[in-house]
Amino acid sequence: MNFTYHRVEPRTISKYQARILKRIAHSELPIEACGVILRDGTIVEYPNTCPNPEHGFDFAAQLNHNIKAIWHSHPNGLTTPSDDDLPMIETLARRGFNCHHLIVTAENVYEYAADFSQVASASQCQT
Ligand SMILES: [Zn+2]
Repeated sequence: MNFTYHRVEPRTISKYQARILKRIAHSELPIEACGVILRDGTIVEYPNTCPNPEHGFDFAAQLNHNIKAIWHSHPNGLTTPSDDDLPMIETLARRGFNCHHLIVTAENVYEYAADFSQVASASQCQT
């Protein structure tokens, strides 16, 4: 892993959007739901293409400069990025998705920022 991450005050989404994300996450149980938040606040859900979608996430979407953050759910309630998430977060950063990550549990939505300054190919999402 070539980056560090830290939890930040939630600022990407409103409480209303957090409620929608929790509802989407619930509807996909037992697999993880995933997608992006666009700059205008639109919540987009993508099919989870991870081979083991109960314990990880991936999606086939292309980077788009309207993307403000990435989100995925943790059916097990874990509030931090899992061991499986870290390589995925790095892979996404290499694809250009270097933006905040939201982790959605049944209880709440947690926001993380990662420092990819050591990932040469990573570019920055618009924030
Ligand atoms: Zn995860």
